[in-house]
Amino acid sequence: MIKKIASVFLGLLILSFPASVGAEISVFVSVPPQKYFTEQVGGERVRVSVLVEKGQDPHTFEPLPAQMAALSRAKLYLSIGLPFERSLLPRLRKINPGLRVFPADRGVEKIMGKDEEHHGHTDEHGHDHDHGGSDPHVWNGVREAGIIAENILAALTDLDPAGAEHYVRNYRNFKARLDKLDSELRELFRGKEGTAFLVFHPAWGYLAREYGLDEVAIESEGKEPKASDLAALISSAKERGIKSILISPQFSRRTAEIIAGNIGANVETVDPLAEEWEENIRAAAHTIAAAAK
Ligand code: ZN
Repeated sequence: MIKKIASVFLGLLILSFPASVGAEISVFVSVPPQKYFTEQVGGERVRVSVLVEKGQDPHTFEPLPAQMAALSRAKLYLSIGLPFERSLLPRLRKINPGLRVFPADRGVEKIMGKDEEHHGHTDEHGHDHDHGGSDPHVWNGVREAGIIAENILAALTDLDPAGAEHYVRNYRNFKARLDKLDSELRELFRGKEGTAFLVFHPAWGYLAREYGLDEVAIESEGKEPKASDLAALISSAKERGIKSILISPQFSRRTAEIIAGNIGANVETVDPLAEEWEENIRAAAHTIAAAAK
C-alpha cells in the first residue's frame, strides 16, 4: 500500500515537473543587478550567469578562460552598454555563432558627457575603454530598470515563445513593484531636490537625475583626484553643505575619509553592483536622503 502511494506520488511529481527541469535557458549578463532583473522576469525558466562578479571592476574587466568556455555554450547574452562588451561581443560571435545578443539598455535615455570626465580609464589591458560618451550605470535608475526589464521580456519571449505567458506575468509583477518603489523614492526626496552628495565613483547618476539630486564625483578620470582638485572639492562641498559621501566597496576609502573629515560628513558604503538590487537602491536612496537638509 505504502509502495503504491509512493509510486503514485512519484508519478505526480514527474508530471508536475515537465521537460523544463534541467532545460532552463542559459542567459549571460554583464553585472549582478542584471541577474536580478533577468530572474524577476525569467523565474525558474532561466539560469543566469554574471560575468563581472562581486568586487570586480566592470571598467577593466576581462573574462576568465572558464567564462569564455561557458559563453561558447550560452543561448543569450544580455548586454548593458559597458565598455568591455565592445571587445567581448565580436569574440563571442566567433566562438558561438548561435548566441543571441540583446542590448538590455536599448531605449534608455543615456546621461551624456560624463564619460571623458569620469570614465577615461588608462588602457592597461590593451583594449578599448571608450564608453561612447555616456554614463554606463543605467541599472541604478528605477525608471531605467523598468526599461531593462521590458527588454529582457522581449529577449526571453523571442528565444522561448512557450514561456511568453509566464514572462509577461512576471514582468507585470516586477513593473508594479518598480512603480511602487518609484513613488516611495519620489516621496522620500520631496522637498529635497537639489541635494548634492559625493561619490567616489559616479555610479548613481540615473537615480540622481530622476529625483532631482546632484551627484558629485570625487575621482577624476577614473583615478584619485590631484591635491589641487581635492582642495577645490572640499571647499565646494563645504559651501553646498554636503553631508553624505557614498563609496563603493570596489574603490578606496582613503580619499573619501579625508574629505569627510574636512567637511563633517559621513562616509557610507553602498555597492552600485549589488545583486539584491531592490533592497540596495532603497538603502542608497535612504542614505542620500538622510543627509539632506
Ligand atoms: Zn562605473
